[in-house]
Amino acid sequence: MTQIVGNTVQQSILLHAATNNILPHSLLFSGLEGIGKKLCAVKLAKTMLCASGNACNTCPSCRQIDHATHPDVIIIEPNEKGNIPIGTDDQEGSIRWLIGRVNLASLNQKRVIIINDAHCMNIQSQNALLKTIEEPPAHTFVILISSERNQLLPTIRSRVTEYVFHPLSDSDLVSILHKSGIDRQTYDSIIPVAGGSASYALTLARDSLFSQLKEAYSAIAGFICQPLVFSYDLSPIIHEIGAYRTIDLLINIFRLHCTKNMLPWLHSELDQTHAVEIIKILLELRKGISRNINIRMALKGMLYSLCFTK
Ligand SMILES: [Zn+2]
Repeated sequence: MTQIVGNTVQQSILLHAATNNILPHSLLFSGLEGIGKKLCAVKLAKTMLCASGNACNTCPSCRQIDHATHPDVIIIEPNEKGNIPIGTDDQEGSIRWLIGRVNLASLNQKRVIIINDAHCMNIQSQNALLKTIEEPPAHTFVILISSERNQLLPTIRSRVTEYVFHPLSDSDLVSILHKSGIDRQTYDSIIPVAGGSASYALTLARDSLFSQLKEAYSAIAGFICQPLVFSYDLSPIIHEIGAYRTIDLLINIFRLHCTKNMLPWLHSELDQTHAVEIIKILLELRKGISRNINIRMALKGMLYSLCFTK
């Protein structure tokens, strides 16, 4: 059985419920990206369908799940545009296709549907899924996974049993980064910025990514200390790692200001009050991502108004 790092209480509650046949049929795993929610959902599916009942990783069922060929485990992911479309009955990976599959008879006793990044379903897709979540066919389990639970309709949230997953500890991150072959000097510097997310930490470990983020941070902090012209463009970083990750990592960097452990590369002239104001701006930007705001213009506008009012 694979050990998943972190969130051991959630894991043991869920595995206990699955092995004792008391698992709710519609679930939501919420919490930050990169903390093991999907790994846990897959392990639950394996546990429920495993020949030896313990997610052995070696029986035909566990191996089919690993190879995404199990007929009774359907994992839906956002498409290349970052959407889970409502689609049509024959459009694989869409919500209508999924509902069609769910209504077919199952070959085995149990069937597990995992919708990763469920917030990537638009309102139409979420509404289409309501009935399936409210009354899943017998022996069917639906697990929604989301790092943005507030983007799910209240009608969805009220019909699922939610399990909140927490950020990973520094020692959990050390063990993951160490296993990924990242050297100690690198992980010592990125862990304070990763905010407890393994995927954020692994993103920061990529070539020039951390330096680019430090540059972005420096441009913002420098502008607040000495407001002249703000011309920094976050687009290349956003293009590489996405808007949510970019904003979250910048928020984590500005949060470091508000701790007593100033790192040598942090801008010593920026006071805490302004660091907090910048965090508020970044949180506003974050809210705008789902509305497709122009991040470059919005950031510039908000930084200018912060400087004029200080
Ligand atoms: Zn097995």
